[in-house]
Amino acid sequence: MTRLSGITPSGPAHAGNYLGAIRQWAREGGAGDLYFVSDLHAMTTPYHPQKLRARTRELLAVLIAAGIEPDTVFVQSDLMPQLGPLTWVLECACAFGEAARMTQFKEKSADRTHEGTPVRVGLFTYPVLMAADILLQGADEIPVGDDQAQHVELARVLARRFNSTYGEAFVVPRAVMPRAAARIRDLADPTRKMAKSSSDAAGTLLVLDDPDLLRRKIKRAVTDSLGRLEYRPVEQPGLANLLEILATCQGKSPREVAAGYSSYGEVKDAVAEAVVEEFRPLRERTHDLLSDPAELDRVRAQGGARAMERGAHRLTTVLRLSGVG
Ligand code: ATP
Ligand code: MG
Repeated sequence: MTRLSGITPSGPAHAGNYLGAIRQWAREGGAGDLYFVSDLHAMTTPYHPQKLRARTRELLAVLIAAGIEPDTVFVQSDLMPQLGPLTWVLECACAFGEAARMTQFKEKSADRTHEGTPVRVGLFTYPVLMAADILLQGADEIPVGDDQAQHVELARVLARRFNSTYGEAFVVPRAVMPRAAARIRDLADPTRKMAKSSSDAAGTLLVLDDPDLLRRKIKRAVTDSLGRLEYRPVEQPGLANLLEILATCQGKSPREVAAGYSSYGEVKDAVAEAVVEEFRPLRERTHDLLSDPAELDRVRAQGGARAMERGAHRLTTVLRLSGVG
């Protein structure tokens, strides 16, 4: 059984990425699972090439520093020689109307239009690239939130269509709900989720922030003026978010955590210490990895080579059945 999960280097990794995803991958990942840095997906909206390269490296280092088995990690663009042809084959199996139905494309292209920047064709076709990511590796299960479920459905449709039209080549993948993990919200605006592409640096706890900066951001977190120390996500979203972060770090429920404190200040101090301690080893290991570029390159090359080995036979079959190559 192979589970496949990716993370896009659209910005630096934050507490939500770590507590909501990366930490789970490190703790629960099985031997057959695969994790990748989806740098090609970051090209679908305006970006800086040097920043993309640096963030890709940094994110790779974070995944390994978090304890994910290095052999199971790769960088998406290292698979370009296989993903390029497979994406083309799948684009030729995908109806225009199917791609045009993707909700995320509608939303993200509306954002671009709003900002006055052109909508890239890559933004339109990237769900097909995502299908190639999944189908190349023969992944069975894709843990995704609601926002990506439609893309996994497209991968299923394309796999079945190819298999029935040209011959059996693909495993038909399934979207699975990720195990319940905290949904961390922005500290400065707790109505929004913490996100890499968020512009609000003050509300985003980065895993590589130094301890003082983490403490300052947490001290300034928006709460409320009710003064009630209870876990009430709707009425007190800022406090609830802090309690959830603390609960996730301590492996408890937010309600249990709330019972242990009597002021918002105490909660913030406790969150600050928990987050600093949670991130300290991760930050140190990430810096160690980044300070030895040759070793990181070696690990990266090995992960890429393993993923390419997995995909080679399937791609050859697909091209043969397609009548090309
Ligand atoms: P972007 O703003 O570019 O969408 P992101 O921060 O939302 O970036 P993704 O690359 O979309 O990050 O998601 C990577 C993983 O991190 C996914 O498994 C996603 O569910 C998880 N994740 C992202 N944000 C949060 C959050 N605030 N709380 C918990 N998990 C999160
Ligand atoms: Mg996201």
